[in-house]
Order: sequence, then structure tokens, then C-alpha cells
Amino acid sequence: MIVPRLARVYLLVIAVASLAFAAAVIFAPQQAISLNPLVVGLLALAGLAVLFLALVDALRRVKALDARSGELARVKLELETTVRALQQRHRELQASEQRYRGLLEAQGDVILRKTPDGRMTFANDAFCKVFGVERELILGRPFFPEMHPEEKAPLLGGFTGQGIVPRVRYDQRLKTVQGWRWFAWEDYVIRTETGQVTEVQSVARDITEQKELEAALREARDKAEEANRAKSMFLATMSHEIRTPMNGVIGMAGLLMDTRLDPEQRSYAQAVRESGEALLDIINDILDFSKIESGAMPMEETAFSPRVLVEGVAELLAHRAFEKGIDIATYAHPRLNGQLIADEGRVRQVLLNLVGNAVKFTDNGGVRILVVPDADQRFIRFEVADSGIGIAEKAQKNIFEVFTQADSSLARRYGGTGLGLAITQRLVKAMGGVVGVTSQPGKGSRFWFTIPWRRASGGEVAESILTGAKVLVLTAFPGLSEFLVRQLCEAGADAFAAKGAATAETALSSGAFNVLVIDHRSGSAPASDLLVRLKARLQGVKTVVLLPAGERAHLPSLKAAGFDAYLIKPVRRVSLIQRVAALLNSKDSGTTESLAPDADVQKPAVQAPLRVLVAEDNRINVMLANSLLTKMGHRVDTVANGREALEALSRAPYDIVLMDVHMPEMDGLEATRRIRLAEAAGRRRGRLPIVALTASALEGDKQICLDAGMDDFLPKPLNPEQLRSVLARYAVGEPPHIAAAG
Ligand code: ADP
Repeated sequence: MIVPRLARVYLLVIAVASLAFAAAVIFAPQQAISLNPLVVGLLALAGLAVLFLALVDALRRVKALDARSGELARVKLELETTVRALQQRHRELQASEQRYRGLLEAQGDVILRKTPDGRMTFANDAFCKVFGVERELILGRPFFPEMHPEEKAPLLGGFTGQGIVPRVRYDQRLKTVQGWRWFAWEDYVIRTETGQVTEVQSVARDITEQKELEAALREARDKAEEANRAKSMFLATMSHEIRTPMNGVIGMAGLLMDTRLDPEQRSYAQAVRESGEALLDIINDILDFSKIESGAMPMEETAFSPRVLVEGVAELLAHRAFEKGIDIATYAHPRLNGQLIADEGRVRQVLLNLVGNAVKFTDNGGVRILVVPDADQRFIRFEVADSGIGIAEKAQKNIFEVFTQADSSLARRYGGTGLGLAITQRLVKAMGGVVGVTSQPGKGSRFWFTIPWRRASGGEVAESILTGAKVLVLTAFPGLSEFLVRQLCEAGADAFAAKGAATAETALSSGAFNVLVIDHRSGSAPASDLLVRLKARLQGVKTVVLLPAGERAHLPSLKAAGFDAYLIKPVRRVSLIQRVAALLNSKDSGTTESLAPDADVQKPAVQAPLRVLVAEDNRINVMLANSLLTKMGHRVDTVANGREALEALSRAPYDIVLMDVHMPEMDGLEATRRIRLAEAAGRRRGRLPIVALTASALEGDKQICLDAGMDDFLPKPLNPEQLRSVLARYAVGEPPHIAAAG
């Protein structure tokens, strides 16, 4: 037990006093202090006891102090360790801050901090260097670098301290010691743990070079677009300027050939026309190519039948092929009987190109056009195979390049610009397909391309309407009989191709056939010779002869030779099957009563004479249109510009107007707009068909014509067939009558 300090003092005083008193009593003379010795003894004892207690307490105290001092020594040791650790940490922090600063400065970014009211609290070296300020002078007060006068962006959060947006980014042009520079800023607020905003930190990076690059790119792009527009304009103008006189040359040569000429004159006129057409083809190729290159050739997707398309292409080029004595045959896989979705015009253009080449480079045999599903069923594959001169392997790689011809020595013989395949390749690529070629010199070439297979309607199942037909096919070009046999078999017939006339004779003698399909030129001798020879063995066999349209003159002799029917080449699948089916069903088997009418040939529709107004400023074009229309039996008036057209329309009723687009005074578009306005206002009854005459081939022109209110357009030079079909399309029924002036 440790006695409290005050008690200790009292007790000591009492003890000392008791002892002193006891001593005084003991040692004083007897008479001076007389007291009971017992009391004195007790006093002395009490004093001694208290002293003893004090001694014990003191000893305890010393012990406690000892313990305390040991503890203190330990605490001191701990404190020393802590201080050393703190010193070490401080050194580390210093090093770390130095590193961090070094990083900040090394980055070159401008970094600053501000209080929310805009006073600078920190600026790195880069900041001071870039804006040419001394740190000591700006810290503690607001500082704003000068903004470019064109700078519309307000100084945002970080810089002004206005508003508290957690993080903002913006670009700004500011005055620096190097002049105006662009900075990309990023400001973000710094908060205390309680969420109070203490500072805004802003970091900026100099993006002047990037901005300059962007501006340069923008300028370059604008310039390129401008140049492209100029190029397109140039092309439009050039096409117009070149096509207009070509129109005259080709059209006039055509008219000249319709007059009475001696054979020499006729051949000259023909040469003029063909050269003109060749030149026009080249111009069209160049225009097409430039259009594709400048991206001015948008794709138009429609639903169409690939079979009808390839058959149409074959028909278009058949004349050229038959003139050269070669054949042309088509085949479409039954799975492609339905319609598919693609840019029909472009597919046709590609096919025309490939088939045109195939015909051009083939002198014997023929050309086969085939369309089948591709192996992976996601694409369809068109193939154009010929038995022509072929292409050397080395040349095959380059022929899709611009202006490349496989054999330049042949180019003069066959003509051409070397643009066709380059156009083909670009068109196919634009449609999402690929194009390729395999070829063997002297044996022929096979060009192919694919397009994505998007079905509009499923492939119809071919009906087996020829069940029971046993057909023998004999043609000179094996490719043709192969395709005919395939088509006949798909329709349910048993069909076979005969390798030659001798095989055919043997096969027919066996009596296994009830139909013979024979090419007029099926070997060295015409088919009729063979037929005459075989007549006796052909009992019960119906015969169909195939011949080009140009050889119709042979029909009477063929009839005499005993043919039952004929088909015009190139043969359409539907005509082939219908014809064979009709023969099988006809009762008078064996007789050659008459040749069945040919489904391939459409008689031209007889058209009532029309009253046509032609608005065209080019004298030669006027002459051409006038004479074509007059020959077709129509009544024609011509005017030289839009204003005259309006006047003419106010004077007389017309069934149709052929309107040139570019004319002096008032162009065709303006005239059309006025006519349509008059119709809308009820000043003109009905809708007058207006067909644009245009030489410009640029995309968008068609839309401009339609937007102005025109119904269709005819490209110049005027083509008699196109003219005839447009007139048939738009000028049927009751002609509209004009009620009042436009
Ligand atoms: P061109 O207008 O000269 O025919 P293309 O680009 O259409 O230009 O063809 C380039 C060249 O490829 C031709 O000049 C010819 O040498 C070769 N070529 C193209 N198609 C065939 C083919 N079916 N048979 C042989 N050679 C061909």
C-alpha cells in the first residue's frame, strides 16, 4: 500500500514530534517535565512505528520508481526506432515525389491546380515555360492564359473554377511564348474525404501539330472532292460533246443505208456506221470506268430471273456469233429457276462484256453461258466458256488490269481498249463477288464470276412435262447439245446427244427415239440433206430444226425436207420444252403438215400513228429523230428549245414529247416543269408523256429528269428499237388532249 503524499507528511510530522517529545521527557531534568513513563514510552513507540512505516513506504516507492524508469527506457528505445523509420519513409517519399515530378515534367504536359475560386495552387515547369510565367508570381492568385479571338469555347470548369463538373475535356487555342498553340485540356475536381471540392486539376497537351494535320487533311479532301466534281463535270460535258456528233454519224449512216445505194456505197456506209459504233463503245467504256473509279456508280437492286438474263444476253450477242459461224448456248441450273436479288443491269453489263470477249476471241466452236449455285450455296456462279484462242498463263494474271491485253499483237486484229475486264472486275467486286479465269492457249477460256445468292422467290420445280419423250440431239457445237440434253432431261425426257451425223443415223435406226432436235448446221452438210437421207427411217420421229434468225430463208426448203417444227437460236429453255411437248401431243404423227409457229419470235406490235413533238437544238439529231419517226409512220413536229415546245403544245395536241435536256433559252427540265405545273393547275387535261433525250451518261441525270417530271429517257444516239419501244410504252390508249396553253 502506498500512502498518499499529504498523509505521509502529517504522519512524519507526528512521528518526529512524538519522538522529540519522548526524548525531551527522557533526557530533561526530572523536575522540568514530569510525565507518566508509560505515556512517554507509548509516544516513543508510536513515533518509532510511524518512522518504520515511512521507511517501508519509501522503500516501496524506490521500487516503483525503478520499474517506471525501466519502462521509460523501453519507450525511449521504441521512440528512437520509430523516428528512424519515419526518417527513412520521409527520404523515400522525397525520392518518390522527385520521380513523380520528373515524370510530369518529362511528359511535357501542362499541369496546374487551382482553388475553386480560381487561385493557382500549383503549376508545373511546363506550364511556366509554355506560358512564360514565373511560378512565384502566379501562385496564390488567379491566372488565365490569353485565348485566341476566334476561340468560341468558353473557359471551362478547371480554368475558371466556375461550376463543378467532375471531369471535362475541351480543345482550346491559347497564346504561348511560341505564339498561338492548340491544347487539349482535361480538368477534374479534387475532393476531400467528405466530398468537398478543394481544387481543380487541369492537364493540357499541345495538339497543334495534330490540329494542323487535320486541317491539312480536310483541305486536301475538299480539294479532292472539288477535283472529282470537276472531273465528273468534265466527263459529263465530254460525253455530251462526243456523243452528240456520234449520234449524227451513226444515225445518218443508218439513214443513208436505207436509201438506194450500189453495193460499194453500201459497204462504205456500213463501215462508217460500224466505226461510229465502235468509237461510241470505247467512249462508254471510258465513261463507265471513270464512274466506277470515282464511286459515282451506285448499285440498284431488283428481283430478276438469272435464266432470263443469260438467255437475253445470248440473244443480244447471237447475231455477232452467228455471223462468225460460231454458236452460243445457255444453261441455268433448275435451282435458279426463281428470282434473285442483285443489280441486274450490272450483272448484264458484266455478262455482255465476258460474252462479247468470248465471241470476239473465238473463231470455231462456240460460247457457253452457264449459271449455277456455287459450291458453298451462298453465291451463284456465272460462267462464260469459249473454244477460242485462249490466254497464255502469264497473261492471265494481268488481264483484269486497266488497258491490259493478253497479246498486244492480237489487239490490232481483234480491236478493244483493254478496259472491259477492268470494268468487269470492279463491278463484280462492288456487287460482293469475285471474278476469275482459267484458260489454255489454243483450247479456249472460261471466265467466271460470283455474286451473293439472295433469293427473291424460290427455284420452281421444273415440271416433268416431257415424260415419255425420247429425244436425240444433234448439233455441230457439242456445248449446245450438252445444254439442250440437260434441259430436256430436267423436264422429264430421256435425251441423248449424238456425236455426229453417222452416230445419229445409227441411233435413229434403232427406233429408240421419238423426237430429233437437229441443228441446221449440224455438220458438213445442212440438216435437210441428212433428213432427206434418213426419211425412210424417221417414221414416228418428230423433228425440230434449230436455226439462227438470219437463216429463216431456209424455212420453205426445210419444210419440204420434212421438218415438223423449228426453233430460233439461241434457244430459250421454255421454247425448247414447249415445242417438244407440243410435238409429242400432236396427233398427226409422222406428217409434216406445217412448221409450228415459233415462240421465240415476237411480232412487232402494230402501232397507231402518233403525233410526236421533238424538242432538240442539234440540227442533225433533229433530222435523225424526224426521219426515224416518220419512217415508223408517226407525225412529227420539231422545235429548237423549251420555250418553242411550250408554244407548240399550246397550239396542237401531241401524244408524246421527246425533249432534249440541254437546250438554249429554256432547257428541257424547265419546260417539263412548266408542263407539269399546267397539268396540275388543270390547264392541261391528262398527263402528257415526256421522254428525255440525253447524251450524258452520268448517274443522277436520270433522277434529275424524273424529278423534273419526265417519264423516261432515251439515250442519244437514238436507237430505232429503243425509240420504238418507248413510243409503244408511253403512247398507248387515248391520247391526252390539251385544254389550254402551258
Ligand atoms: P479488250 O477491250 O481489249 O477486249 P478486255 O479488258 O475486255 O479488253 O480484255 C483484255 C484482254 O484479255 C483482251 O485484249 C484479250 O487479250 C484477253 N481476253 C479477254 N477475253 C478473252 C477471251 N475470251 N479469250 C481470249 N482472250 C481474252
